[in-house]
This record gives sequence, C-alpha cells and structure tokens, in this order.
Amino acid sequence: MGNPSAHAPLTELVEELLAVEGPLPIVAAGDPVLRRGTEPFDGQLEPALLARFVEALRITMHAAPGVGLAAPQVGVALRIAVIEDPAPVAEEVRRARGREPQPFRALVNPSYEPVGTGRAAFFEGCLSVPGYQAVVARPAEVRLTGQDEHGRALDEVFTGWPARIVQHETDHLDGVLYLDRAEPRSLSSHQAVVERWSQPTAEQAARALGFELP
Ligand code: ZN
Repeated sequence: MGNPSAHAPLTELVEELLAVEGPLPIVAAGDPVLRRGTEPFDGQLEPALLARFVEALRITMHAAPGVGLAAPQVGVALRIAVIEDPAPVAEEVRRARGREPQPFRALVNPSYEPVGTGRAAFFEGCLSVPGYQAVVARPAEVRLTGQDEHGRALDEVFTGWPARIVQHETDHLDGVLYLDRAEPRSLSSHQAVVERWSQPTAEQAARALGFELP
C-alpha cells in the first residue's frame, strides 16, 4: 500500500479533478503525461476515492463518446483504465470486426500478451488524437491479466474488437499511442473514414491509400 503521505500529490490531483461535476477534460497528444508511462496502482487512492475516480472515467468515456479511457488521458499517471462498448454497429460490421458488446469494466494494473499468431487490422481512433483514425494491425487474441477496481484478479482471453480495446487502453498505460503502431499511409480524417472507409474491413482503404494488411 505504501506510505499515504508519499502519494499526497496524486491524491490532491485526483481530488482536484473530481471537484468539478461532469466529464473530465481529456488530455491531447503532445502532453508528456501520455508518454511517460504510469505507476502500478498500489493503494495510492483510498477505496472511496478510487471508486469516485473510476466513476469519473466512466462518465468521461460515455460523454466523449468512446469505448475506453485510460487514466493518463485525464492527466493521472496511474495504471488504471476503463472500457465499455455497447457496439451499436451493423451486423456485417459486427461480424467482420468481431465487435461484440462489452460491459463496463475497470482494468487495474492490466497487461496483455498475444495468444497465437493471428493479427487483425482495422481503423481505430483515440480520444487524445481527435479528428483522425488509422489502421492498426494488432494481435487478434490476447490474454489480459491484472485486477478489477476491487482488487480481484483478472485473467481473461479477449478476441475481436474487445481485444483491440484492451490493447489500446493498456498501451496508454505504457506511454504508447495507437499511432506508434499504425500504418502511416492509412491516416485518415474522421470525415474521410465516414465518407470512404466505413466498409466492414480495411481492404478498400489499403488498395486506395497504398498500405499492406496482414
Ligand atoms: Zn486512446
């Protein structure tokens, strides 16, 4: 748990963020907090404050709207993220991308490792990189370990879109943005994705923009 006084600045930062009602401001790319990596969570926030912080992440993710949010995206360098995906997509998109609904969950100290060698490449975006999307090839299946917000062990295999979400959010906790792993030639404005690349797969975009798919 550590010495509480050693964590006073972190506690103060979170208290300060939570003093304002409603969604938290989201930090944009260019802020070093997105690049420094995070401290493992080890009781730095007492349980009631942790619960309030997780709730604020949930509200902020919903308001954005997004399907995941990591603590550094609100300026807090702790190894905590939240995910939730109601997956409001057409059936063919759901099937092609494996975009199955995910209930809300908090990921505390998550880490992942690929299961098998399968890879999947689709457009993804990030609340900290507004206005753009790019194709990222990622392991199609991962094993995620860590804890939930109550300290219960988490050890679960994720596939399809949920696998992409947990990798994206865990990467944030290591100071990695999706752009670091993206196919540069796929970079598209959000509007271009809506107008041109909303197909279930990225094949047309790969041909037209000139990049490889796995
Ligand atoms: Zn992100």
